[in-house]
Amino acid sequence: MNMQNPEKLIRASVRRMQGYTPGEQPTDPAVIKLNTNENPYPPSPRVREALLAAAADTWRLYPDPLCRALRRAIADLHQCAPEQVFVGNGSDEILALCATVFVENDGAIGFFDPSYSLYPVLAQIRDVAIRPSALNADFDWPDPDPLAADLFWLTNPNAPSGRLYDPAQVADFCRQARGVVAIDEAYVDFSRTNCMPLALTLPNVLVLRSLSKSYSLAGLRAGYAVGPVALIDAFYKVKDSYNVNRLTQAAARAAILDQACMRANVEKIQHTRQRLAAALAGLNFKVWPSEANFLWVRPPAPGAARLYELLKERGILVRYFSGARTGSNLRISIGTDAQTDRLLAEITAMG
Ligand code: PMP
Repeated sequence: MNMQNPEKLIRASVRRMQGYTPGEQPTDPAVIKLNTNENPYPPSPRVREALLAAAADTWRLYPDPLCRALRRAIADLHQCAPEQVFVGNGSDEILALCATVFVENDGAIGFFDPSYSLYPVLAQIRDVAIRPSALNADFDWPDPDPLAADLFWLTNPNAPSGRLYDPAQVADFCRQARGVVAIDEAYVDFSRTNCMPLALTLPNVLVLRSLSKSYSLAGLRAGYAVGPVALIDAFYKVKDSYNVNRLTQAAARAAILDQACMRANVEKIQHTRQRLAAALAGLNFKVWPSEANFLWVRPPAPGAARLYELLKERGILVRYFSGARTGSNLRISIGTDAQTDRLLAEITAMG
């Protein structure tokens, strides 16, 4: 073998791409993390019990490749059949599987712009075209072309704007779409309404949910898709053999079965969201109405980039996305009341 530049061994499309930039995960536990939309409250106590019960003597065995017990719990929650449910290693895995399963090599993927910054990266990994649908300054429904893409990732509520689009409008789009519409509802438990009925009735619609936000399980990695059996079956053909580990399956099932705990945490977060929105508006921030566990805000002078830095120096992390449509704003995850008080105190002291 020639001594060659190892870079040349890498597929051209992979060489060209940058890869996804996740939000920072600081090691200092004193840092107030309002940058990756994690839940500030612990998951159901039943999760801990389930993890202890699933311990040690079963670890030498592979997990159930079909996640049967967990799918049954999810199916009961949404009143559908387990065959209509796919469980993934986070909803990120399911997004990647959508790109594998529904898009030919000469096909295209659509999504809102701005939206979840992983979407273009997944399209680059597949080396397929993208058809971003540009949002206006208020992030209103952009009337995406239903014929433009083989797969459309429709984020509702959207991120980072927190905007919730009307399910009737979403339904119209899905009915006209020529490809699969995967409605990414990672944040929907924090909203007034959702599009699950579309996944249970239309032949081209999937709804994707995450256990990372409302169920407080970001560290265990679980997400699921609900939709037509034919589409769900296709995921099972191409997924990793054992894509969801034993502990995650047990924990996710316990979390799903304790809806009361999830709902109580969500209500606290909605309450804090309202309080933070009002307080920031009073400090001359522009605050978009949010139906998620974060606020999308435009700070007054000296502006978003500077405020991000100043807060970071004071041990508070929020999310800043550079770029034309996002660079004047910050995305602030909703924390506990105490974290919110600290955030507001720091901003007020700067003023
Ligand atoms: N969709 C959106 C819109 C998100 O913001 C996120 C979280 N970054 C995900 C999906 C992925 O969530 P999970 O942790 O389930 O992979």
